[in-house]
Amino acid sequence: GLPPYDEGNIFARILRGEIPCKKVHEDSWALAFHDIHPQAPVHVLVIPKGPYVSAADFHASAPAELIAGFWRAVSATAKALGLEEGGYRILANMGADAGQEVPHFHVHIFGGRPLGRMVP
Ligand code: 5GP
Repeated sequence: GLPPYDEGNIFARILRGEIPCKKVHEDSWALAFHDIHPQAPVHVLVIPKGPYVSAADFHASAPAELIAGFWRAVSATAKALGLEEGGYRILANMGADAGQEVPHFHVHIFGGRPLGRMVP
């Protein structure tokens, strides 16, 4: 089963403003900020404003309005970053085998160069 949500995780602390971040987009549903260890010229994380551990938890538990608002925020963030024309990749790690480090659901946005074929 899913682990319980840890209110002390680093992204919860960023959402509460206890830790700074380089903000790209914020609305009622989501916060987007630059990854501290970028893996591409543009590497941004988008997190929902709610206590969800993973993608599975988010889609099973969040209100439909929040789910829709979150995905709109992902698109709005890519647009704000100027990635619409060239394109970009979104990715979410879930659980141990995917190497998920932070137990607050987040989508990575990668862009700013040709990203190549996606491999595991
Ligand atoms: P995961 O492996 O859980 O999908 O990705 C977690 C991501 O969060 C990593 O890319 C890591 O660089 C990023 N990260 C971890 N701690 C912080 C932080 O305190 N601030 C920011 N901006 N990014 C972080």
